[in-house]
Amino acid sequence: KVSVLRIGHRLVRDDRVTTHAALVARAFGADRIYMTGVDQSVSDTVAGVTKRWGGKFEVQVIQDWKGLAKAWKKEGGKVAHLTMYGINIDEAAERLRKEERILVIIGAEKVPREAYELADYNIAIGNQPHSEIAALAIFLDRMFKGKQLKKELAGGRLKIVPAARGKQVREIK
Ligand code: SAM
Repeated sequence: KVSVLRIGHRLVRDDRVTTHAALVARAFGADRIYMTGVDQSVSDTVAGVTKRWGGKFEVQVIQDWKGLAKAWKKEGGKVAHLTMYGINIDEAAERLRKEERILVIIGAEKVPREAYELADYNIAIGNQPHSEIAALAIFLDRMFKGKQLKKELAGGRLKIVPAARGKQVREIK
């Protein structure tokens, strides 16, 4: 079970990136994303995608991310913070897969020191600076070993029929 925590959203300017972080979390196998400081429209967009395309993905807008991470740990969950300063994902992936509940923290701009300290694991997706969306995608892919891409999400209104050419979408009544 993996939940994502995105911290440091900058109003309006980051809406698109935050929406993409949420959509990647959903499509790549996480159950939930917690976000700080976002506009309601971001959670509405993601809720709309889940309604159309299925699954049970949850978006929660929160105020106090440190409180959330501390409570997560108190309840026995582990916290993995994605940062280029961390240890390589390949060194930690096997241990992480054995954990029952993981909260993955991703940042936007400069991440406060507390995130590094609260984390049980500071994980690097390589030691070069890139993007929280890319980092999250690779992290989830390693966690689920690619199986998340074949998972069927129940309950949606639309379903894609994979096609080599063109678009085929089935409406579910
Ligand atoms: N410069 C900022 C800092 O030092 O805290 C990070 C900014 S980066 C654009 C935004 C987020 O992308 C980071 O907080 C981290 O979660 C993620 N990220 C970027 N490169 C990464 C890497 N090589 N490994 C893991 N996460 C990475």
